[in-house]
Amino acid sequence: MSKAYLESIKKCSRCGGCQAHCPLYLETFREQMVARGKMELLENLQKGSIQWNKKLADIFSACLLCGSCTESCPNGVFADKLIMHGRKELVENRGLPIIKKNIFQHLLKYNGRLNIAGKILYLYQKIGLQKLLRVAPILNLVSNDLGNIEAMLPKVASGPFRGRFPYRNTVENPRLKVAYFTGCMTNLINHNVGYNIMKLLKAHGVEVLIPEQVCCGVPAYASGDFAAGNFLAQENLKNFLSEEVDYYIFDCATCLSTWLDYPELLETDKAAKASKKLMDINHFLVEVLDIRIDAVEYGVKVTYHDPCHLKRTQRGRTAPRELLKRLEPAYEFVEMDLADQCCGSAGSFGLTHYKLSQQVGKRKLDGIKESKASIVATACPSCMMQLSHVLKNDKSQSSVKHLVEIVGACFHRS
Ligand code: SF4
Ligand code: SF4
Repeated sequence: MSKAYLESIKKCSRCGGCQAHCPLYLETFREQMVARGKMELLENLQKGSIQWNKKLADIFSACLLCGSCTESCPNGVFADKLIMHGRKELVENRGLPIIKKNIFQHLLKYNGRLNIAGKILYLYQKIGLQKLLRVAPILNLVSNDLGNIEAMLPKVASGPFRGRFPYRNTVENPRLKVAYFTGCMTNLINHNVGYNIMKLLKAHGVEVLIPEQVCCGVPAYASGDFAAGNFLAQENLKNFLSEEVDYYIFDCATCLSTWLDYPELLETDKAAKASKKLMDINHFLVEVLDIRIDAVEYGVKVTYHDPCHLKRTQRGRTAPRELLKRLEPAYEFVEMDLADQCCGSAGSFGLTHYKLSQQVGKRKLDGIKESKASIVATACPSCMMQLSHVLKNDKSQSSVKHLVEIVGACFHRS
């Protein structure tokens, strides 16, 4: 662990202020869930008074890396970062679970294999196998959570989004040139998000490059496999830095946040150079393109959920709201209670800790219901998946959409 991080552990005064902000502590009231408990353990691990073992592995896997503790800590403890670095040490000591090891080493690094995995899931849904398994809940015989986790799977596309556009999408006399990082979710699942971005950018005179790219690395970094994460980060940087563009655009808050961490994780000039160009699509639409939409009147109520990884970036809280306000009167924006509280998704956390993840997700329900919104807008595919699942389990009529899908629907020029 770096010197700065070791110093940061010592800053924890055990005041317990993080308890009120930790979604997992608020559900369980267990000290080992909250940053304070984990900082105590990390300090003892550094001193050598305890060693990594199975119990500690379980404790450190129970964290959403939502950063609420870090944001609220009066002493400036980087708790979420420390927990992630703790997982790195854990992997160095005890290795990775076999499933994760295979995913990071043999799947995430290879787009061809990821595309095949996507195709298998597409066929599984298309030929009716998914329906059959849901009608005769065979998966629940293996484990209750397995059936529930399967039910989270959104509709998978028949092929990769990136294969449907050329590398260079030219427009006449472009006012700007951007490189678009689609992330795995838009590439394999949420094509509609990508199509709307391409439509909006083209209509505003922006040339869009879609460089070769791999996963941003977050599943690997969050699991403590920094070697696999660094490999993916370096591949992305190599591909994106090969062309001069004005901005790198992101539709996924988590991918953006991982790229923002590349300079610290890789410590290279390349990573620092790239970080100056990163921008969330909502921020880009509002601030750079200053998009104006002549919407027709519909009066649909829409509320907004802040993805944890977006709200701490520049204009991460304000740009999405500004965008929604520009859609009035077509959409009536209503703020919901606890809009900036984590939805409990956190990538693979929803799979490894299904019940706890759903408990956290349910906290969002009251706010959504009170808002009376028929659409919950957000800007992170992982949050979209989690919120859709929570709403579906509650038999809610509200749907979840990415902000650019809403903007794109109002924007008729192409
Ligand atoms: S992490 Fe921060 S808020 Fe939590 S106990 Fe330590 S000093 Fe207090
Ligand atoms: S990152 Fe989130 S889940 Fe993890 S300890 Fe901090 S507040 Fe709790």
